[in-house]
Amino acid sequence: MKVAVVGGGIGGLTAALRLVEGGHEVHVLDAGARPGGVIGTSEVDGFRREHAANGFLTGAEDGAAALCAELGVGVVEAAPAAKTRWIYLRGRLHALPSGPGSFARTQLLSWRGKLRLLGEPLHRARDVASAGDESLWDFAVRRLGPEAAHALVAPMATGVFAADARELSLAAGFPKLAALDARGGLVRGMLAGMFGGGNRRARSRLATPAGGMIAMIDALAVRLGERVRRGVSVRHVVPEAGGVSIVGDDAARTRYDAAVLAVPGSAAARLLAGARPELARGVGDVYYAPVAIAFLGFRARDVSADLGGFGFLVAAGEAPRVLGCVFESTLWPERAPADHVLVRLIYGGARDPGAAALDDAALLAQAGADLAKVLGVRAAPVHASTVRWAHGIAQYPVGHAERVAGWEREAHAARLVLAGSAYHGVAVNDCIADARRVARQVAAWR
Ligand SMILES: Cc1cc2nc3c(=O)[nH]c(=O)nc-3n(C[C@H](O)[C@H](O)[C@H](O)COP(=O)(O)OP(=O)(O)OC[C@H]3O[C@@H](n4cnc5c(N)ncnc54)[C@H](O)[C@@H]3O)c2cc1C
Repeated sequence: MKVAVVGGGIGGLTAALRLVEGGHEVHVLDAGARPGGVIGTSEVDGFRREHAANGFLTGAEDGAAALCAELGVGVVEAAPAAKTRWIYLRGRLHALPSGPGSFARTQLLSWRGKLRLLGEPLHRARDVASAGDESLWDFAVRRLGPEAAHALVAPMATGVFAADARELSLAAGFPKLAALDARGGLVRGMLAGMFGGGNRRARSRLATPAGGMIAMIDALAVRLGERVRRGVSVRHVVPEAGGVSIVGDDAARTRYDAAVLAVPGSAAARLLAGARPELARGVGDVYYAPVAIAFLGFRARDVSADLGGFGFLVAAGEAPRVLGCVFESTLWPERAPADHVLVRLIYGGARDPGAAALDDAALLAQAGADLAKVLGVRAAPVHASTVRWAHGIAQYPVGHAERVAGWEREAHAARLVLAGSAYHGVAVNDCIADARRVARQVAAWR
């Protein structure tokens, strides 16, 4: 079959790879000057900046680690310090407990909160399949108690989705938690992950391609070769009997046997508005929380604070405006020149979209103030820069999975497949794994 893949982010490129493997003739049409979508890596003042995803967990089945191995891209594991994660709560940092001893000692939760969390097996299990979806927040309060919801679970929603846990779908955002919940083994499962139980070898590690995330994109582009067409902005997608016409910016129509729409929901809505207005309205409703990143680089000797760990997340309602901060050069020392450190502070998200709209000077001033408050860092940075995404990370509201299933039925009837981060997971691991579903769907039309 001749298949158009509209959108050359990680979702579109991996879908194209799987389609080529399936023997199809594939064109990837991407509006950007280079493929990769939001993923990008740049070197400024000797600091390596990741523009979106900065790494991935290696344990995911069919995820980025497997793709890198397949493409011959070397990966670098994060320093062991990555295991330590911090949460800013009640005006100070607390290490996320990593064992029974630190759980007993942590001040993230009161004794009452700890007992409530450990009493989880006594609380009602709930199966999304029969009882319907709920928010991550409602789920956490029901199973773990309000303290754990605020101190542990809501920051996780910020860390992964830059989301507000009260709005985020459990079923679509955290399907593994939903499955554990249905089986009633939530605390057992969480403790196994948190305290290092289970099969140690199978445990995930944080890693990134040597050369940065862009190395994985570049290798995909090389593998796909001339099938990837840059600077091609698709204007309309028009389903027709037994196929799909793609209309480009120059109004030229090209007929394909099927098309994969691997663009953000708002872009898919524009492509479909003429031919499939109802589907267009649906996918156009997927909200992307805006995100702004502030990168600050310092001389190591000017920073007396302990940057040991992955970084910190800030619980809702605390004074710092930053959602979270990643200690980039602790994880991967090559991200800063020798004797320097680099941190990446994330602003905006569904919790505080206004912060992503601050101008550069205001954002960098806020980043400096937040670092001073949380870590006591008051030195002048030797590097300060920003990367912004007005449409940053797709948000999955309660009921998302069900709505996606409806859109997919409508798309299927029009020989279209919806792909990318708007539907089945925002993490790069999810977008990569989802490419096999896309290829299966296309193969079904053969
Ligand atoms: C700040 C930030 C931090 C993140 N951190 C992490 C992380 O640490 N770990 C993790 O796993 N994930 C992270 N993510 C999420 C992850 O990077 C994204 O979800 C994923 O890369 C999105 O890929 P995609 O292919 O769905 O879409 P995109 O990357 O948005 O690609 C869509 C493509 O469609 C193209 N396009 C749009 N309209 C048209 C058109 N009309 N015609 C042709 N082409 C078009 C665009 O040019 C673009 O290339 C982060 C995201 C952000 C923004």
